[in-house]
Amino acid sequence: MQFTYHGQTYDYTVTRKNMKNIIAHVRQDGTIWVSAPYHAPQAFIQEFVKANAPQLSEMAEKAKQQTADRPDFTDGSKLPHLGEQITLHYSPVPCCASISDGVLTLYARSPQEAELAHRQWLIDTCVALYRQINREVSAHYNRMGYDVPLARIEIKEMKSRWGSCTARTGRISMNFRLMQYPLGCIYGVFYHEYAHFMHLDHSKAFYAVLYRMYPEYEKFDAILNHKQKG
Ligand SMILES: [Zn+2]
Repeated sequence: MQFTYHGQTYDYTVTRKNMKNIIAHVRQDGTIWVSAPYHAPQAFIQEFVKANAPQLSEMAEKAKQQTADRPDFTDGSKLPHLGEQITLHYSPVPCCASISDGVLTLYARSPQEAELAHRQWLIDTCVALYRQINREVSAHYNRMGYDVPLARIEIKEMKSRWGSCTARTGRISMNFRLMQYPLGCIYGVFYHEYAHFMHLDHSKAFYAVLYRMYPEYEKFDAILNHKQKG
């Protein structure tokens, strides 16, 4: 089946299931899947998809873009790192991962091994960097008169979030995948999470604190959200 949105045609696959409501979701590869009850009329499903076309098309486009952006981890391929492109180099002998002059040398014999080694290297290297930014941001908030703790940092891989804050326990979780973006983006996530120590929600008051502390927030947040500026 197909639907059209803004002149663009999207295919979707319908599967019938023993369920009450219609559900649509977009897979990582950008394909659209609709689950519907056995008895739901075709027209009803089409209506449902049409009503959700703006969100479905946006999610499909985003997924396709992310797949296209995904590095292939072959020897000599490019990887995004702190907003720059670095070159991946396979070391044929076991060695520690190291970066110099924009070349990341990893022990790997296949793209699968390289991807795993790269992931481990990211986790290892982000710890020191995140700790340093954490100290800076915390001290900056204190200097500006906000009573914030020095957060305990937890490194995580999160599917849909860059960071999260548990104000009650003074803990901030940070996504190590942020390491591919410019430093300003990483600062932005820290400033955002620290603002949650004052305001748990995303209210006007929350953003007032955030923009006061980090006026460039919007610019870097837009990079993380792949928003087009213009
Ligand atoms: Zn938030």
